[in-house]
Amino acid sequence: MSQFARVAIDIPARREFSYGIPTSMVDVEPGCRVLVPFGSRKLVGVVVGIDFSPPVGVPFKKIRPLEAQLDAEPLLTLSLLRLARYIADTTFCSWGQALAAMLPASLRRGKARKTVTFVESTESASESDLEALRESFPKQERALAVLLQAKGPVEIREFRNRTRLSRSPLHSLEKRGLVRFEKRVQAFDPFADAPQEDFWRPTLNPSQRECVERIRRALDTKEGSDFLLFGITGSGKTEVYLRGLERCLEQGRGAIILVPEIALTPQTVARFRARCGEVAVLHSGLTDAERRDQWLAIAEGRLRIVVGARSALFAPVPNLGLIVLDEEHESSFKQESVPRYHARAVARERAHIEGAVCVLGSATPSLESWRAANEGEISLLQLPERVAGGSLPRVRLVDMRYEKPEQGKWLVISRPLEEALKEAFHNGEQAILFLNRRGYASAWHCRQCGGSVSCARCDVALTFHRSRDRALCHRCLEEIPSPQSCPDCGGAVSKIGIGTERAEETVKRLFPESRIARMDRDTMVRREDYETILRDFGQGEYDVLLGTQMVAKGLDFPAVTVVGVLDADTSLHHPDFRAAERCFGLIAQVAGRAGRGNRPGQVVVQTWMPDHAALRAATNHDFETFAKGELKEREEFLYPPYVKGVRVLVESSGPAEADKAMREVMKIIEPAVAEGGGLLLGPAPPPIEKLRGKWRQQVLIKAPDGASIVPMREALYSLCQRPGVTVDPL
Ligand code: ADP
Ligand code: ZN
Repeated sequence: MSQFARVAIDIPARREFSYGIPTSMVDVEPGCRVLVPFGSRKLVGVVVGIDFSPPVGVPFKKIRPLEAQLDAEPLLTLSLLRLARYIADTTFCSWGQALAAMLPASLRRGKARKTVTFVESTESASESDLEALRESFPKQERALAVLLQAKGPVEIREFRNRTRLSRSPLHSLEKRGLVRFEKRVQAFDPFADAPQEDFWRPTLNPSQRECVERIRRALDTKEGSDFLLFGITGSGKTEVYLRGLERCLEQGRGAIILVPEIALTPQTVARFRARCGEVAVLHSGLTDAERRDQWLAIAEGRLRIVVGARSALFAPVPNLGLIVLDEEHESSFKQESVPRYHARAVARERAHIEGAVCVLGSATPSLESWRAANEGEISLLQLPERVAGGSLPRVRLVDMRYEKPEQGKWLVISRPLEEALKEAFHNGEQAILFLNRRGYASAWHCRQCGGSVSCARCDVALTFHRSRDRALCHRCLEEIPSPQSCPDCGGAVSKIGIGTERAEETVKRLFPESRIARMDRDTMVRREDYETILRDFGQGEYDVLLGTQMVAKGLDFPAVTVVGVLDADTSLHHPDFRAAERCFGLIAQVAGRAGRGNRPGQVVVQTWMPDHAALRAATNHDFETFAKGELKEREEFLYPPYVKGVRVLVESSGPAEADKAMREVMKIIEPAVAEGGGLLLGPAPPPIEKLRGKWRQQVLIKAPDGASIVPMREALYSLCQRPGVTVDPL
């Protein structure tokens, strides 16, 4: 053996492993997958380098040969290898872990799962079975309840995500004849028969023309550049992206459009297809085999435009010209498992590496991007008007403290909102009501000890779900029968706070004739159900669309003239430095749903904190003032984007164990952080001290900038490898 392959393996160890290249595999190149012996196992790895001398410090005899070469041609380009390196360096994982996150599962493991299992309730199952199971088989009851709610077969992965139940209650239900399994070779593809959109190419308005011009000029130079497209809701951002894509295709280049998972609808895809021809769609519903096929079609240049959620960022598009991140402020662009990257930063990096143009688009940009634009680090493009003419809807704050309670109960729908709804219904118009909490009441409050009934495994108040008469933990999804008294002191309990179930009931009571569609995780079990409700709402089969975040995003229904935000404060109470930003963004987004047709819209925002800066600014659609004030605070209190933040969280079986684990963590990071000139905040218990039976402690690192993280990197890497420790860049 005279050549050696350095291989990155999907394990937490931050180093590469060297293997000898047998003569049969001399054509192996960086970017090829290989099978390697690792201890007694065989693992799939990616070749990241070829050496012509053996690795130093390893006895020659100990060097094992590659077991097999899995790709004749490199599967990953050098640019993607470099991008993985960047992800490893900025999220503190190993190169192998970052590479694994880029590859479709089937290519990562070497073998593909070819079928998808669906499960559904049988015809003989009914509500009465729930009663019968409830006492002795609560898990089976829960499982069946979800399947009865669903309007058809549910994919098993989807079912597990939603319920966190294993398969075993499903198998028991199968024995009872209440559910059946079905294996299919193809996943449900919501995009296969997407509606045919017209190939309509509107004449650009002057602002759009200016934006398109600048993006095109940047594409023509073939040097990487970044743009922030700041355009209010309905200002025609998508049209700007489409013109950029057209230029890419003319140049013989490809492009990636990332949208939040929830916005990846058949309509969105149809719009891109109508204008760009066949596009690859990478969505979470694909089987591994389908995903692999799409991936290979992209790599071979057969599909040059890719539309997808976060992970589509890694699509192996050859000759990449443009990356678009639509709704770039969305928190779903951050991955919440290793590698904990943010698609925004990675998109910019990829564009930089490949000489592509990166366009971040939003009506409410993230403060990170906004600051970068202000400082000239990325170019700002603006669309300040709605294309359809028309103005943004009038937003009105209702101070709930002055809404007189009725029969001792605080109102769910304030009188001004009630009036607005009455008028809209009278005129045959539609309304969207937004409340970011599902269930009926948000907690049981003990009138004697003042506490609330919380989950046995989590430090979280249980939510009352009336349709099932259960107390549910929204964190771990466990549920118990509704408590009759306080488990701590035996005092009487009363329900407080409102959820979507209660809001639905209230609207029904106020407007018995109205047709209400409720959209939350309880009513929407399958993705198709969501599509169906939106379609029906668009066709006027409902008067009100009421729900959680699902109703806030990107919907375009011209007949909607009233938007109500039932509890604007929910998102402000989160002890998170981004709470105000999120609150502003949500309200601006949901408000943007009103008055998109030719009738003016109005928005009613109910709040207990009407003086909050985020709410004030949202009332005036004034992102810039909000951003200015919020950035000033971030700078003063040293939060991102003025510092680089990293959160280190430990989890352990008990409070003392968590303390001990945190002390060990501190021993490692204190010196490293001092060396980088950073600050430590904590350690302290996080807002939710106990989660899923684990006790937690956290510490926040604030580093002046990216460069000062470098001396901390080794320490953070080593922490990342410890079980029970999470290292999360903020
Ligand atoms: P945004 O993404 O900024 O909310 P969209 O790109 O979805 O806005 O545009 C909203 C609507 O306006 C779409 O139906 C789109 O086809 C239409 N539109 C976009 N640009 C123009 C234009 N220049 N003239 C007329 N209609 C346009
Ligand atoms: Zn819980």
